[in-house]
Amino acid sequence: MRDFAGVLSSNPPRRRSQMKLATFLSLLILLPVLACRKENQSASIKLDQVGYPTDAVKIALVSAPAQTFQVKRRTDNVVMLEGNLSARVTDANSGDQVQVADFSALRTSGTYYLEVPGVGRSWTFSVGPEIFSRVYYLAMRAFYGQRCGTAVNLGPEFPEYTHAPCHLEGSFHPSSGKRGRRDNVGGWHDAGDYGRYMVNSGIATGTLLWAFEMFGSKLKNIKLNIPESGNGTPDLLNEVRWNLKWMLDMQDDDGGAWHKQTSEHFCNFVMPEDDHLPSEVIGTGKPPYKSTCATADLAAVAAIAARVYQPFDKDFAARNLRAARAAWAWTERYPDVTFRNPPGIFTGEYGDSDCADERLWAAAELWRTTGEAQYNRYFVDHYAKYQPTLGALDAESWRGVAPMGLWAYALAARPDADSRALADVRVAALAAAQQTVERTRRNPYRVSLGAEDFRWGSNGLAANYGMQLLVANALAPDPACLRTALDNLHYLLGRNTFSISWLTHVGEHPFRRPHHRPSGADHNPEPWPGLLSGGPNAGRQDPVLRLLPADLPPAKVYSDDQRSYASNEVCINWQAMLVFLLAGVMK
Ligand SMILES: [Zn+2]
Repeated sequence: MRDFAGVLSSNPPRRRSQMKLATFLSLLILLPVLACRKENQSASIKLDQVGYPTDAVKIALVSAPAQTFQVKRRTDNVVMLEGNLSARVTDANSGDQVQVADFSALRTSGTYYLEVPGVGRSWTFSVGPEIFSRVYYLAMRAFYGQRCGTAVNLGPEFPEYTHAPCHLEGSFHPSSGKRGRRDNVGGWHDAGDYGRYMVNSGIATGTLLWAFEMFGSKLKNIKLNIPESGNGTPDLLNEVRWNLKWMLDMQDDDGGAWHKQTSEHFCNFVMPEDDHLPSEVIGTGKPPYKSTCATADLAAVAAIAARVYQPFDKDFAARNLRAARAAWAWTERYPDVTFRNPPGIFTGEYGDSDCADERLWAAAELWRTTGEAQYNRYFVDHYAKYQPTLGALDAESWRGVAPMGLWAYALAARPDADSRALADVRVAALAAAQQTVERTRRNPYRVSLGAEDFRWGSNGLAANYGMQLLVANALAPDPACLRTALDNLHYLLGRNTFSISWLTHVGEHPFRRPHHRPSGADHNPEPWPGLLSGGPNAGRQDPVLRLLPADLPPAKVYSDDQRSYASNEVCINWQAMLVFLLAGVMK
C-alpha cells in the first residue's frame, strides 16, 4: 500500500485527469488485496510466497525503513530466527529502496512468516526439501486447461473449472492455397485467445520436451491428473503430445507447415465452446503458402520428439522423425518464406523477417537425433553468425530461437561434433551465464532482468534467464548458476516490487485478473490455476498501461487487470519457460 501511494504522489499536476483514473484503477486493484489482508500483511515485505529449499540461500526484501526482522513459525508465532536488515539500496528499475533480510540459517522444515517491527508481517512461506513440486504440478497442468478440441475438467480440486469441446470444425482460409474443411482438432489455445500458432507452439513445445530430456528423472513420476494419466507414459509427455499432434497435422503433403490456425479476428471474452467463429488454417496468400519459420520450428520440435518419445512409443517417435526430415527438406527448397497476416486476418501475426535461426535450431536438433552429416554441416557452416545471441542480455524467444540451436549442439555431446563449433558455443554459453550471475547479484531485487528487459512478457524473460543459467549448469555444473536461476523463480513467486505472486492460485497474494478468456468468461470468482502473468511492460501497448502514471519506473508498469493484455496475459511460451525453470530447480 505504501509503495503504491508513493508512486501516485510523484505525478506532476498536468497529468491530474489521468492520475484520477489511475488512482481509481489502483484502488480497484488493491481492493481484493485489502480484503484478504486480515493479518496486516505488508506488501513492503517481498519474498517467495511458496518458499525456499531447505539448503538454499533465503532472502526477503523490505522496501520500508526498518532495522530488524524476525522469522516466526506460522502455527504458534514462536520466533525461530532474528536478524538485522542490510543498509538500504535503491533499485533503479522500480525506484524502491530495499533492505535485505537474510535468513539462510533457517533450515527447519515448516511454514513461517517475517515480522518487521514498524512495517508489519509478510505473507507466509515454507521451507522444505521439495517445496516446488506443487507449483510444477499447477504450472504444467495449466497446459491441460489450454487444450483445444476436447472437453476439459480440472477435477475435484477445482470443481467448476471446465469447458466443453471447442473448435471441432476447421477450414482452409484461401491464403492457405487450399479450400474446404480442415478439421485438425487439438493443440493448446495459445494465450488469452483461442488461436493456435506454429511458431509459438514451436518454442513452447520444444522447451517442454527439453525440460523432460534434461530433468526427466525428477518429472517422470509426477502425475498431472489428466485423461491419459496412468497409460505408462510420463504425464509431461502425455500433455505435450496433445499439442504436438496438432503441430504434425499442420504439415502439408509437401512437407511445409502452415503458420497458424485461428479465426479471422479475436472473439469476445466467451468460453471456448461459445466461440463459433470459423477456425481457419491460414497461409501466406501465395505459393508455397506455408512459412519457413513455422516449418523449421516443426522440424526442430519433431526432431526432439523423435528422441524423447522413443522409449515410450516407437511408432510416434518415428512419425515425428519423418515429419522433421520432410519439414527440413521443405526449408531447403524455401529457405526464406516469411509470414505476414493476409488481408482480413487480425489475429496474432507472430511475424518474423528472418527464419535462418529457426533453420539453425532444426539442423542442430536433427543432427542431435540422427547424427547425419548433412545437418552437422549446415550447423557448422552457419552457427558463427548467431554466437552473439548467447550474450548476457539476450535470451531465446519465439522469434529468436538461435540460442536453442546453439545449446542443442553443445548439449548433444556427440562424438562427431565439430570441435571448434562445440568449443565456441560452450565458451559463449558459459560466459553469458557468468555475466547473468554477476548482474543478478548486483540487482537489488536479485532478478536477472535489466532495465530494458521490462517489455512484453518480461516474466517469461526472467524464466528465460533461468533457462540460460540451467543450460550452462548442465554444460559445466556451477552452484552459482543454480542459485541465480532460483533467484528468478523467487522474483516470479513474490519477491518483486508488487509483492505479488505472478502465478494464479499460488501463494497468499497471487495476481487474480489474467487476460485469459476462460478466466474472464466463466462464473468462478478466481482465475484458472497455475497461469503465469506476462509481467511489467514499459512498452505500454495497451490502454490500461497507457493510463498509468507517465513517470513510473519500468518494473512498476503493470496492472492486474484483465484488459491489460500487454502486462497481464497468459501465454504458452512463457508458461513453458516457467515449467523448465521449475523442473531445473526442483530436487
Ligand atoms: Zn478450442
